[in-house]
This record gives sequence, structure tokens and C-alpha cells, in this order.
Amino acid sequence: MANKKVLVLGGNFAGLTAALSLKHHLHSDVDVTVVSKSDEFVFNPSFIWIPFGKRRAQDVKFQVTNTFESHDVEFVQAEATRIDPASRQVITTRGTYRYDYLVIATGYVNDFDVIPGLGCGGNAFSITHLDGAVDAAEGWARYLNEPGPLVVGATQGAACFGAAYEFAFNAAHQLKKHHVKVPITYVSAEPFPGHFGIGGLPGGERMLSMFFKMQGIEGIFDVAMEEVDAGQLRLKDGRKLPFGYAMIVPPFAGAKVVNASGLGNARGFIEVQDTYQSLAHPDVYAVGIAVAVNAPWTTANQVGVPKTGFPAETMARVAAENIASQIRGEPPVKKEQFGDIPAVCIMDAGNNGVLILADKMLPPRKHGVMIPGPQSHAAKIAFEKYYLWKMRHGYVNLP
Ligand SMILES: Cc1cc2nc3c(=O)[nH]c(=O)nc-3n(C[C@H](O)[C@H](O)[C@H](O)COP(=O)(O)OP(=O)(O)OC[C@H]3O[C@@H](n4cnc5c(N)ncnc54)[C@H](O)[C@@H]3O)c2cc1C
Repeated sequence: MANKKVLVLGGNFAGLTAALSLKHHLHSDVDVTVVSKSDEFVFNPSFIWIPFGKRRAQDVKFQVTNTFESHDVEFVQAEATRIDPASRQVITTRGTYRYDYLVIATGYVNDFDVIPGLGCGGNAFSITHLDGAVDAAEGWARYLNEPGPLVVGATQGAACFGAAYEFAFNAAHQLKKHHVKVPITYVSAEPFPGHFGIGGLPGGERMLSMFFKMQGIEGIFDVAMEEVDAGQLRLKDGRKLPFGYAMIVPPFAGAKVVNASGLGNARGFIEVQDTYQSLAHPDVYAVGIAVAVNAPWTTANQVGVPKTGFPAETMARVAAENIASQIRGEPPVKKEQFGDIPAVCIMDAGNNGVLILADKMLPPRKHGVMIPGPQSHAAKIAFEKYYLWKMRHGYVNLP
């Protein structure tokens, strides 16, 4: 009998892990094809260092072709433009692909429309994509020659708060190194410091407030932004924050193909079961940022949930195990609810940092700690090296 065909859309954290995990389960008994818009694996957590010259774009990525080829996975660099679950086909910019099982790991796009003044050619930088981080580096070099107030923030609906904090602390550290004294403001939709889009952790609010004090950063929380004008951020409550440099994290939305195919919610993310099968189609899985996660809180200003690397990989492994079961004729029984996946993250602060650990991504939790100290900065650097090595070689079974 011919092998079943598994098509994976996206080749980053979730897509690469799903494709190679499936090969580890079934070896030559499955045909796996990855279709990804990019032929590079990109380690987004290191974007925070690019503006300060601590990393260049080429330091945080690698070509995926060899990684897939050496694991007998076909790789096609193309953009999926339409998914047709009825005929089990995906139309891409390089032809149409048929599948028996589909894994959607198409991640996120930046939703710069959230407020006027964001995005390419806008009035603030956003390090949430590689080109944006490179632009932010050029802007930072200019800014150091002509400094002014620094504004760092995350808009209403954002989820990637960790990157905003990391940028703020790294920027403060760099300014100190360059003997530049300017007002620094952190502006966020989070209801309190250290919420992080995960509801906060015990002692986190106090710790983040202490970090702010140490670095001379003023925090403005629980606010929505109205517009970024040239040199000024306007908040919905009427406050105006002048700046010489601004970095703002926008909300994320799902890839265009998801909603073009009628598979997403209002933000283009896919509703899934705990098996990571989509609610609508049991042979269509979604993993990583592409998955819809509903926040278990209501806040005055919308606060999203960060779908970080660890849960993205966990979802991909669960999906791979379930697809392998289905191909073997067994039911897909592996389950892992997003909120129950452990939270494991490091927030870098220039020459310091915070290790964030919790038994569950989302409350209610039994355990959660934030451990501050310079060892977290060292650990983040070591983790980057380890992770890029692990993914380049396709060792997706390693932690
Ligand atoms: C600035 C920043 C800092 C971060 N810091 C951390 C951190 O410290 N720790 C942590 O755990 N996580 C962090 N994250 C989150 C982490 O990057 C994500 O969890 C991870 O990127 C999710 O991987 P993914 O594969 O789901 O999606 P993505 O990384 O978005 O990958 C999606 C893939 O799909 C491809 N694609 C998109 N559309 C299509 C299409 N139509 N057809 C084919 N292919 C397509 C893309 O080219 C890409 O290869 C950070 C993210 C950012 C932006």
C-alpha cells in the first residue's frame, strides 16, 4: 500500500518539529512534505539583540533545506494560498499538493493596523519580524547620536510582552553603557507589571517593578494606544509621550491562507481540540502560533496569550504522535491542553535576566516562580546556541 502523505505548512518552530517528529515515529512508512514561505529557520527570540548590534540577521537563522533532506522530508519553498479540506488539497505558489493529513504551522503576521503609525515606514520600530529588527538597529545607531526620550510598548491585543520587556531592559542597559541619560517609558495593555499575557506569577509584579526602578524606567500599564505620530505616542486616555526612539509590539494575527480558506477565527487563528486536530476537520491539525488560544481573563484593554517556543514544540509533538497513530489505524489519543503545558521562558535584561517557570501556561496553577539574576542572561545566550544547533540537525526529540 502507498504511504500516507502528510503535508506541513510552515518550517519554523512548530512546522519543523512536527515534520521531523513524524519521521521519528514512522520513518520510511510516511511521506512528509514541508511547504514553507521561507527556506530559513529563524530564531525570533534573538531579535531583541539585533537593534543593539549584539546579533546580525545571519546569526539568528539557518537554511532548512539540508535539515529536511537529511531526514528524508521533501521541502518546497512556496506560499500556501488556499487550503481545500474537502478535496484534501493545498494550492501554493508552486503548485497544488494533495495530503492525507495536513499540519498548519503558519505562525503569525504582525497586525500593524491596530493603530495608525506602525509598520514599515511608520513612526515606531517593531522588532517582531526580522526586517523590523534590522530597521530598528539602523534607527538605534542614529538615535545614539541624537538621543531623546525612549518609549517601548505593547499595544492592546498584543501577546508578545516578553519581547517588549526584553527590549526595554536591553535598551536601558545600552544607554547606560553609552552614558546617555534620557527618560525611558514602558507602556503596555497588561493590567499590571509582569502580567506577560500569562496572568502573572507569584512575586512577578514586585520583581518587575524592582527591575523598572533599577533601570530608571517608568511603567504605564492598563492603557490602550491611539496613534504613533512622528516623535509622539498618543494614548487613548489623552496622554502624549514624546520620543526620540520608539519600539512597539503589535498584536499577532494568523497567516492570510488560514482565513482565505475559511479555517480561522476573527484573528485568523485555528480552533483546535486538545489533540491539535482542528475542530472542523479531524485530518487537519494546527500547531504553534497558528492555534487559537482564548485568554481566561477579561481585562479593560485586550491582552493576548503568548504562544511561545516551548508550547509550540509541545503542540507539534502531540500532533505528530496523533497523526502517526491515525496512520497506524489507531485513534489519536494524545492530548495536551495549551493552558496545561508548562511555562518555560527566559527574559533577558541586558546583563541580567529572569527565568520564568510554571507548571502551567495559564492559571489556575500550583507552582510558578520567577528567578532573577545574571545567570538568566548567560542561560539565554547558551539556549540560543543550543536551540539553533538542535533545530539545524533536526534533533527535535531533545528538550
Ligand atoms: C521578538 C520575539 C521574541 C520572542 N521571544 C521568545 C522567547 O524568548 N521564548 C520563547 O519561547 N518564544 C519567544 N517568541 C515566540 C516564538 O518565536 C514563537 O513561539 C515561535 O516563533 C512559534 O513558531 P511557529 O512555528 O508557530 O510560527 P512562526 O515562527 O511564525 O513560523 C511560521 C512559519 O510558517 C511560514 N509560513 C507563513 N505563512 C505561510 C504560508 N502561507 N505558506 C507556507 N508557509 C508559511 C513562515 O515562513 C514560517 O516559516 C518570540 C517571538 C518574537 C516575535
